[in-house]
Amino acid sequence: MMRALILGGTADANLLAETIAQAGLEAVYSYGGRTRAPAGQKLPTRIGGFGGVTGLSDYLRREGITHVIDATHPFAAEMSGNAVMACAETGTPLLALERAPWVRTAGDNWIEVADITSAVAALPERRVRVFLAIGRQHIAPFGARPQHAYTLRFVDPPEGALPLPDADVIVSRGPFTIDDEFETLRSRAIEWIVARNSGGAGARAKIDAARVLGLPVIMLARPQLPDRPRVESIAEVMEWLGHRACLGA
Ligand code: NAP
Repeated sequence: MMRALILGGTADANLLAETIAQAGLEAVYSYGGRTRAPAGQKLPTRIGGFGGVTGLSDYLRREGITHVIDATHPFAAEMSGNAVMACAETGTPLLALERAPWVRTAGDNWIEVADITSAVAALPERRVRVFLAIGRQHIAPFGARPQHAYTLRFVDPPEGALPLPDADVIVSRGPFTIDDEFETLRSRAIEWIVARNSGGAGARAKIDAARVLGLPVIMLARPQLPDRPRVESIAEVMEWLGHRACLGA
């Protein structure tokens, strides 16, 4: 009997879960547990790490998982790497649902960097107002550039002090429209943006708003992941599972 595991935590994973639930397929949705009150799902949900490759392998065997869909954020490299290894170890078919990265278009003022250290180094010396749109676990290295005024946006309020002396925190859950992003960028007089090349539509509005406003964007490239089969649409995942999608792609 088919029983899929969705490694989730993204808008695409949520839409996939809805499609799978509507199709009446058996599946479990897994959250990493970063968000205090994650979005509800129509599928049975589990929350928290598996315990590395060994823990995930054990889980796949114990739960009788026949298909794994890695629909995590493209920067969740540890989870994706573990999934490749655990699926190889247990002989479980794996498919990644991953949107193509954004590509620079006319009018974009991007400084493309490979990692956080290079992103920190790419900020100017003079004090500027920076929108740091990169996720809370990656902000500490920016403490090396304390002269800047940082704006951060989190789903949950931060616990404890942030490692940045001048930090303005917005607590809000996306997706955001371009008008939302104009408002955020203008109301804080943002001059620079640091973003991850997530791809897809959900996080794109800030990049589009930056282009219109002529703001420089320090764009973090995606981490390298091991080779694995990968598709970009929910319809392709459903086909892989042997079903036609009920909602669009
Ligand atoms: P990561 O560094 O690759 O993962 C670190 C560890 O967290 C993994 O080794 C695993 O622990 C656990 N983990 C991560 N995702 C999991 C999942 N879906 N189910 C169960 N355990 C999971 O990942 P991250 O960058 O911290 O991201 C954590 C989660 O947040 C991911 O699921 C990702 O999809 C989501 N996220 C969403 C967005 C967004 O914009 N929507 C942005 C960033 C992250 P064990 O080794 O113990 O199994």
